[in-house]
Amino acid sequence: MTYNLPVPTAGTHTQPFWDGAKLGKLMLPRCSDCQRVHWYPRFICPHCHSTDLEWIEGSGEGTIHTYAVQHMVFGPWTEEAPFVTAYIDLKEGDRMLTVLRGVDAEKPEEIRIGAAVKVEFEAANEDMHLPFWRVVEE
Ligand SMILES: [Zn+2]
Repeated sequence: MTYNLPVPTAGTHTQPFWDGAKLGKLMLPRCSDCQRVHWYPRFICPHCHSTDLEWIEGSGEGTIHTYAVQHMVFGPWTEEAPFVTAYIDLKEGDRMLTVLRGVDAEKPEEIRIGAAVKVEFEAANEDMHLPFWRVVEE
């Protein structure tokens, strides 16, 4: 399958995330001082303002915090609609915005807040593997 949507560009403070993604690992930034994970990657801990940060391999597990069905989208995503976006409560802490897989955008009543999800990666091209989250069968 060819990935025809826009692909993010890695930066100096996000490269460890993309390196992990290529290996199927969900790398998360963690503060070495307060030990809290934060998302998205940045140069300073949003909790205690320390700049002593490290990367850890996350479990790739989480739960749905909230979701939205995207009907009115523009640009290259137009043909993807409707699809579901969600905020995922990461097992390690903080939240990640994602496109949710394993759900029917036409039946949003079947999507459950708190449902268990697991990360998966799709190769957009040779260098970039993108994270998506999928509902785990219960
Ligand atoms: Zn901190």
